[in-house]
Amino acid sequence: MLNLLDLPPAEADRVLREFAVEQGHQPYRGSQVVPHLWAKPVPSFAEMTDLPIAFREVLAAHFTLPRLALDSQQRSSDGTRKFLFRLADGQSIETVAIPDGDRMTFCISSQVGCALQCSFCATGAMGFARNLAVHEIAGQVRELALLDPPVRATNIVFMGMGEPLMNWKAVDPVLTILNDAKGFGIGARHITVSTVGILPGIVALGKRREQFRLALSIHAPTDELRQTLMPVNTKYPLADVIDAAARFDRRVTFEYVMLGGVNDHAQHAEQLASLARRCGAFVNLIPLHPGGAMGFTPTTPEAIAKFARRIRKTGVEVAIRKSRGMDISAACGQLRVERLRRRPPVGTEQDREIEVA
Ligand code: SAH
Repeated sequence: MLNLLDLPPAEADRVLREFAVEQGHQPYRGSQVVPHLWAKPVPSFAEMTDLPIAFREVLAAHFTLPRLALDSQQRSSDGTRKFLFRLADGQSIETVAIPDGDRMTFCISSQVGCALQCSFCATGAMGFARNLAVHEIAGQVRELALLDPPVRATNIVFMGMGEPLMNWKAVDPVLTILNDAKGFGIGARHITVSTVGILPGIVALGKRREQFRLALSIHAPTDELRQTLMPVNTKYPLADVIDAAARFDRRVTFEYVMLGGVNDHAQHAEQLASLARRCGAFVNLIPLHPGGAMGFTPTTPEAIAKFARRIRKTGVEVAIRKSRGMDISAACGQLRVERLRRRPPVGTEQDREIEVA
């Protein structure tokens, strides 16, 4: 049985047209299935009511449309929703949906756990289990579109669990599914791949014709400090990551999580600005989500604002990321970690604005 949700739309279309003909139907019957995969998803072949019943039955006998099981969800007082999905092998992953005006950004996962062990990241602490398959990554977007009422993404960031460029084999076709007009039809400029700086992956992303965006998790402006926070810096040192960013033919964003007393000195701002200038990057300062980041304290909002001003003075563009979903631990890996510790969900008496499904 072929899993149609592992295929880019054009390939699914080709397979389905051939199949329709083999089954004695017109080829267009095969093409009629494709919008039901992503653009206007339905849960199973039985719901593809624009197709003859007999054709739906043979489709179900030859192809699969695997679901991700929605285990639980939480809603933050700011409207951010976090979903925990269970996979066929019992592993779980999380997806966050962040509304902002008329935008709806999905923060999606690309791996179960992560091998990189960044010291402030909850996903790193749980270790690496496995890569996600195409249908498990794109499936996060599909499942939310299947909710009643549906939640549809206008923007996608690969900032959930895992390192997307360590799973390029799956992320590459997922980018096609997200962007293709016959997939989710999300503009390439609204799709951001975030990486610690996996060099071969950055080259591969740069080779795609579409204008997908690249975000680099910098977090420290010197090798010495970065090494202590991000072990991957030994394999891909800062200078090489900055070079790769300079060669990337589109604008890149630096992600810089503000760690109190660690990477937030005035000198760090100057050094970071100089790196950003070298590759024309935009700097995003991220307030630390304290959950899961053991041993770190957030930089105060005033100190973040001052740090931003220092960078801006040098002519580098900088923004302070709004922290979303603070009350539901919506940072990388935090939901799963909480559940694995079997912490009881926050009760309504403690915080009436948090809903736990
Ligand atoms: N592996 C990729 C993508 C997943 S993490 C990467 O590292 O870029 C997405 C972003 O969340 C990264 O910039 C990561 O450093 C950041 N992050 C991880 N833990 C965090 C925390 N506790 N608070 C704020 N940001 C965090």
